[in-house]
Amino acid sequence: MHRTKYIFVTGGVTSSLGKGIIAASLAKLLQARGYRVTIQKLDPYLNIDPGTLNPYEHGECYVTNDGAETDLDLGHYERFLDTPTSQANNVTTGRIYQAVIDKERRGDFLGKTVQIIPHITDEIKYRIQLLEQSGDYDLIITEIGGTIGDIESLPYVEAVRQLMWEMGRENALVIHLTLLPYLSTTGELKTKPTQHSVKMLMESGISPDILVCRTEHHVTDEIRNKLALFCNVEKRAIIESIDAETIYDVPLLMLDEGLDRVVLEKLKLSTAQSPDLSKWNEFLSKFKNPSQTVEIGLIGKYVELHDSYKSIVESTIHAGAVNDTKVNIHWIHSEDLNSDTVKAELTGLHGIIVAPGFGPRGIEGKIKAVQFAREHQIPFFGICLGMQIAVIEYARNVMHMNEANSTEMDENTPFSVIDLMSEQKTITNKGGTMRLGEWDCELLHDSKAYAAYGHSKLKERHRHRYEFNNKFLQAFEQAGLQAVGFNPETRLVEVIEIRNHPWFVGVQFHPEYKSTVLNPHPLFVGFIKAALVNKGIK
Ligand code: GLN
Repeated sequence: MHRTKYIFVTGGVTSSLGKGIIAASLAKLLQARGYRVTIQKLDPYLNIDPGTLNPYEHGECYVTNDGAETDLDLGHYERFLDTPTSQANNVTTGRIYQAVIDKERRGDFLGKTVQIIPHITDEIKYRIQLLEQSGDYDLIITEIGGTIGDIESLPYVEAVRQLMWEMGRENALVIHLTLLPYLSTTGELKTKPTQHSVKMLMESGISPDILVCRTEHHVTDEIRNKLALFCNVEKRAIIESIDAETIYDVPLLMLDEGLDRVVLEKLKLSTAQSPDLSKWNEFLSKFKNPSQTVEIGLIGKYVELHDSYKSIVESTIHAGAVNDTKVNIHWIHSEDLNSDTVKAELTGLHGIIVAPGFGPRGIEGKIKAVQFAREHQIPFFGICLGMQIAVIEYARNVMHMNEANSTEMDENTPFSVIDLMSEQKTITNKGGTMRLGEWDCELLHDSKAYAAYGHSKLKERHRHRYEFNNKFLQAFEQAGLQAVGFNPETRLVEVIEIRNHPWFVGVQFHPEYKSTVLNPHPLFVGFIKAALVNKGIK
């Protein structure tokens, strides 16, 4: 009988080892062998979801088709696998506790004392197995956030222990991702932190089946023997994960190390079909051997932490590869842009992206960037807040509505060209209440956006509370800024363009969430093409 099998991924020694990339790489290899696979991330923090988190905390908030605000690792999963994830793919401790406490209030526990074990662990087990119910997957990879030994990870580790016991070792296994630090004074990789971390996992009743070892240097045979002996892991299941040039190399490195093969053998699944990575390799070779470069400015207010714009950066990589182009991102802090600096900061760029964001900080700098791109005919791509800023800039500098603004920044502006959506006006809670997820958009045929997509009906992902104020639509169109994409039901403006400009496109949605290695997003592809034209190449 067919049953879904589980691969649990834990992390040891330190955080930020890249569990998400290892999980996504393994999933890619299994998918390339014909298995149906998905990935799930369990985050041990108390927020219900990362939607309320400042990007400085954990980087970008990623959004799924069904409108879940999730950890950025889900972006890696989608970009690697080219299959959508959903709310069920990201679970936080906050969500687990909320569900259990709601049940308690309803009286579902029939007078029992509600405890971490079994009630919280049961809820974790239920969430882990929720994805299985669709029957869509042969394998589910579940990444446990945090590091083994953290207090907040304990209920997850206990839930995994129970599931391993219930499912049996042919149906579930544990991969432990760990670090082998290199001591330059003695020129050695050290295994002790890994031994301790495995020991800690064993104290919780879990013996890892596979060790993936992050390292700056190759892992010698001697070290593999040592790790095998002291960590109770078969030698063939000691997998080296050496620092890679790019994250897109990691699936190939894992293939060389046989990670997918060991996983399948341990789960008693066939390895007969070898992985077909032809398209992946095609992308990699284009990505690594570009025939030209373009300089793209990314204007945002969280640029100190590049992870805040993860999906945008990856989208430019995908779009660069199909255009045989290396995209050099110039990180530009919006707060650094003013009339004195804008010329020096932006001259020489072939394209300018104004990033999404919330609140007034850095807004005036973003307006300066839009004005520079518009006046100097530099390809401009405004995403969400970036589109709204383009509207404000046009109102102020072309239409002479000097104090035009979004009501997000100035509630009393005389020209509220961007305004709170009416359905948002009664909402007070901040969590999960934006206009989220996939919504329809229809494009005018005579537009840059249509030329990029090649069709007029789209579904794109959203995350916003404010919108173009249709009260001003006619005035804008007369002045040369056109709405070229609308929600067909509500007429909400989804895409704006300026006609007498080589490529000036602003979108209310987030195209970056849908770009994948195998399907680069058409708007990013069009934008990079326009940047190449601007450079004089195409
Ligand atoms: N702050 C703006 C809004 O809520 C833009 C949001 C965004 O850029 N994601 O509409």
